[in-house]
Formats: sequence, C-alpha cells, structure tokens
Amino acid sequence: MDPVSQCKTEVDVLWSEEKTLQPPENFKNRANVKDPVIYRQAFQDRLKFWEECARRLDWYQPWDKVLEWNSPFAKWFIGGKLNASYNCLDRHIEAHLGKKIAIYWEGENGNTKALTYQDVYEHVNKMANVLKSMGIRKGDRVAIYLPMVPEAIFAMLACSRIGAVHTVVFGGFSAEALRDRINDAQAKLLITADGGWRRGAMVPIKTMADAALGQTPCIEHVIVVQRIGQDIPMKQGRDHWWHDLWEKAEAYCEPEPMDAEDILYILYTSGTTGKPKGIVHTTGGYLTGVNVTMDWVFDLKSNDVFWCTADVGWVTGHSYVVYGPMSNGVTQVMYEGAPDFPERNRFWEIIQKYKVTILYTAPTAIRAFMKWGVQWPKSCDLSSLRLLGSVGEPINPEAWLWYYENIGHGHCPIVDTWWQTETGAIMITSLPGITAMKPGSATKALPGIDAEILNEEGEIIKEGGGFLSITSPWPSMLRGIWGDVQRYKDTYWSKWQGKSYFAGDGARRDKDGYFWFMGRVDDIMLVAGHNISTAEVESALVDHSMVAESAVVGVSDEVKGQAIVAFVILKDGNRPSKEAEGLLKEHVSQKIGALARPKQILFTSDVPKTRSGKIMRRLLRDVAEGRALGDVTTLADSLVVAELKKQYDEV
Ligand code: ATP
Ligand code: MG
Repeated sequence: MDPVSQCKTEVDVLWSEEKTLQPPENFKNRANVKDPVIYRQAFQDRLKFWEECARRLDWYQPWDKVLEWNSPFAKWFIGGKLNASYNCLDRHIEAHLGKKIAIYWEGENGNTKALTYQDVYEHVNKMANVLKSMGIRKGDRVAIYLPMVPEAIFAMLACSRIGAVHTVVFGGFSAEALRDRINDAQAKLLITADGGWRRGAMVPIKTMADAALGQTPCIEHVIVVQRIGQDIPMKQGRDHWWHDLWEKAEAYCEPEPMDAEDILYILYTSGTTGKPKGIVHTTGGYLTGVNVTMDWVFDLKSNDVFWCTADVGWVTGHSYVVYGPMSNGVTQVMYEGAPDFPERNRFWEIIQKYKVTILYTAPTAIRAFMKWGVQWPKSCDLSSLRLLGSVGEPINPEAWLWYYENIGHGHCPIVDTWWQTETGAIMITSLPGITAMKPGSATKALPGIDAEILNEEGEIIKEGGGFLSITSPWPSMLRGIWGDVQRYKDTYWSKWQGKSYFAGDGARRDKDGYFWFMGRVDDIMLVAGHNISTAEVESALVDHSMVAESAVVGVSDEVKGQAIVAFVILKDGNRPSKEAEGLLKEHVSQKIGALARPKQILFTSDVPKTRSGKIMRRLLRDVAEGRALGDVTTLADSLVVAELKKQYDEV
C-alpha cells in the first residue's frame, strides 16, 4: 500500500498516533534544516541559541543583555537598536536584490502589479515622509483599514520606518469595530481606501471609515488609497489622497533606530473568546521570531514564490505576509479577493500563474475546497508547489490528507503551525525536512520554544491531555495588552502564578511527544464527567462522506452535565434528513464512542465565523442555549448567526 492510503486507513482510527508520514526524500535532502541537533543546541543554551537567531537581522547597535525576565514581563535583546523597515528593505537593496520581485499582486478583478524590492522601498520611503509631514512621530499610533492592496504593506513598513506604531484593522470589519480599536489605541491618523473588491462587488470601505470617524476625536488626518476610483466624499483638511501626497513627497527617509523593546505594533485578537485584546509586540524579539521561523518552517530558498493567503488584518498577515517574508527577501503573492471568484479554482489558477512553491492557508479554506470538489484543483497545474502550510484552527486528519493528496500530490510536506496573535511567531510545528508527520497533529515545539501540557496545578503531563502552556519566555512573545496591565496578568499569567504562559488552548500529547490540539479550553465539553474536545467530534463528523464542515458545542443537560449539539454543513449534492441525522450520530458513536454521540444535529448552510475564518463556538452556544447573542462585532457575516438562531428556535 502507498503511504497515503496506508495513512488514510490509519486515520480511520481517528487521531491515529501510530502512523507517521516521513518527509519526501528529495525534500529532506535539500532542506535548510536537516540535522535534529538544532533541538539539542537550543535546549543546551536557549539564550545563546536565540542570540544566534537575532544575528540574522541587521542591528545598528548590538544588545548588552539577552533577556530580562521579571515575570510576567519580558525584555529581549536589551540595549540593541534596529529598524524593521531597514531589515525588510534597505539591506536587500544593499545586497543588490533591488530588482528581485517582492510582491506579485493579483487584484480580484484581474488587475495585477509586479513590485520589486526597489519599488516597495520607494513607496515606503515616500509614505514615511508623508506621515512625518502630518505630524506623526515615534510612538504615535497609526490605524490602517485597507483591503489587500500593496499599500497595506507600504503603510505598515512606513510606520515602522519612522517608529510609529501601526494598528491594522481588518478591512471587512464594521464601522463600530474600527471605531473601538481606533479609540482604544488613540490613533492620530487613519490610512484607508475609497473601497475594495469582494466577490465582484464593491466594498464601501471609506463609507464605513467615515461612520467610525464621527466618533474618533483622536484622529487628525486620513489618507485615502484610490482602489475603486469612484467619487467619494473627502472631508476638507482631514482627508487626503494617497497618490497626491505621494507625488509631492521626498524620496528618502532615514530609518529611525529603534530600541529592541520599542513597540512595533498593536494588533487586536480576532475575538473568538470575547472582547478583543490589543496585543502589543515590540521590535527586536518579534522580528527575530518571525524572521527565523520563516526560514525554518517554510524552508526558504532564494527562488521560492511564497503565498500566505491570510489578510494583513490578522496576525498571520503581519508575521507571514509582511515582516517574515520581507525580512527574508522573499518573492510572494498577495491576492485581494475571494477564493471562489469568478470561479472556484481561483487559488489554483493563481498558483499555476505565478508558479507558487509554498502555500500557507487555513483549515476553513481547505474544508471549503473539499466541499467544492477536486475537479477545481485538477483543472490547474500545481506542480510548482513543494511545501504546504496550515494555520488558524486544528486541521482534522481528513482535511489534512485531502490537502496532502489533492494539492500537494503526495510530495509536499505539510506544516501544521500552531501559534497565536500573542505568540507573534509560529511555536509548534514540524521542521519539514526532519519531522515525521502525523495528519492532524501540529507535531513538536520549535527549537528554543518550551511547550508543555500542564494540569490545573501546573504539573507537566508527559502523555495525555490538559492545558497547553509555554513555560519559558520567548523573543516574539506579547509584551502586554495595550492599556490594560491587569488583563494581561489575569488572562495569560494568573493560572499558574506567573510561572507559565496560559495559551487558552486544550491539547494532548501522545507517546511520541506530539501535540494534538483539541480547541479552546472554554469550548471543551464535559459530558457525563468526561472531557470531550470539540475538535475531535467535528473531525469525526467531517470524516463522513456527506459532511463538508461542522461546529460542535456543549449545552447544559440535566442528566449529563453537558450534551453535544452539532451544526453540520453538508457537501454539495447531499440533503438534510432524519436518516442523515441518524447516520451521522451513529458515525460519531462508532468513531469516538457512545459518550460523544451528539444529542442533536442541526443542518445549516453556514456557521458563524470570525473574519479570519474561525468558528465562533461561543455564539453557537448562545444559540443552542436560547440566550441573547454575545459580542458579534468581529463576525464575518452577522446574518449567518441570526438565521441560525431563527432556525434553531423553530426546532
Ligand atoms: P481571541 O483570542 O480574541 O479569542 P483568536 O484566539 O481566535 O481570538 P488568534 O490569535 O488569531 O485569535 O488565533 C489563535 C488561536 O487559533 C490559537 O489559540 C488556537 O486556538 C488557534 N490555532 C491557530 N493555529 C492552530 C493550529 N495549527 N492548530 C490548532 N489551533 C490553532
Ligand atoms: Mg486567542
């Protein structure tokens, strides 16, 4: 039997811990990191190891001390001075890479741009001067509310060039979400656009921004990128066109030498668990983390064409569209629109067109592709691909194998990367030339990262389930929650009295030490005294040939404490019925055990998700328990949950 089908049979036993898939030989031989000794080196002298990593960057002044840990406050590379935009641009140009393509930009409507490092450098320098001319100084906050256009990258790097702190707000967020973030960060300037394109329709970004700006007294100036070219209201004295300012700006702006611990950005989390938190990242440690993980995990070669499909409004966009790729001088693809526009093969066409070698996307997208069918990827030439990545949620083994077979054609390793807005960079994943893969497992902590499963008391669980924790500080860790020290301590550090970082995720470790993520701790269900993970039941449901996607929650139950309710999206061509419900309940029982059998299955065409594609289980719990809906400001589509609520109340 070939390794894939062999593994697939094994996956029949869910969460198979036995079978592994070795990285393909030719990948292994050429990998940047081939020798597992790297784990030992990191373990033997963690600080020295991280110092070596930091030397990949260009510093104006070296640090005097690697780490100061005053739990829960960390400082890394103390006394060191550097500039993020210098590291992402100037140094590549000095190394004669100015002509290398930095960004192949693909607009949804077919517009394209190919921008070299020199081009990006020129844009960034001019915008940096524009920001200065508008009174923006080191430490000031600048809000960015843009679609996926190159100007989003220019704006972020322009801020970092002059030491301004950017706070990017996802371009699809509502006016209220934008308003709250601007006010929380006290931003002085907003960079936005006249509009954007999504599924062929115009998104009225400026109209939304104007609604927010009515209640953001801190904003003094607004810079507007022209994307749509329609007439929009511009407020005299406040609003300025990007292209007008750009034309008049000076060509060079000296990068500001920043302290390693100066703030690089504030980014609000996606809000799956409640009110978004303004996560603070600083310059030296963050840049070290994203720069080196980019190289290890994506095994970068100078001729790679990298494509991370995340929006810049999400941390994945910050770390693996902007700072990771650019600080490594990579050529990347940036795509503005939806994966199914105009057809469901848009991603595959883009890969074929630009000969993408590395694809980094999310399980939610992979499950959508599965639902649409293999005819779409089959219609394109994907032979340029050599490595695949996944991020955002646990990837169920079924989706992992689908991705491996139908996109990677069995020769691309998959890196399932676990990390958070708070961790800044990838923490747990395989080194693609070394680690044997297990479909559905994020595998092991990266060198230099101490990750453990802890129990309630903070004791290490070598094999079994519990709370995922990072037990030593790491360079790219968050430095706090903007304006709320107490919430920082309470959320991440109070569980084990400041000794270890509480990530909020449940996970299991198998006998080989591999991590299997089970979902948010708040989402884990307690049925008749047994912990059952949402991820596990969802995975069992998706394993059935009728099911495209599912979301599972625990609701209060008089007898069992909690009972399982499953929201199920069927694959095209299947219809909801009593029989289907019975079959699926039985399927889950067989896969996991009678305890995990859902009490109720509700067929739906969609489940509520954040703009970064994560299922909002807390809202589904509100629906299933008949409560009023909690905070919905970060939802991708609030109609989905209203519709579900109506449907559920009828049942
Ligand atoms: P909030 O903290 O506001 O609820 P969020 O946690 O969804 O928002 P992010 O920081 O974007 O915001 O997401 C990080 C979370 O995503 C992780 O804590 C984890 O639950 C999940 N996650 C990300 N990657 C993976 C992965 N490879 N495997 C399992 N879970 C993952
Ligand atoms: Mg989180």
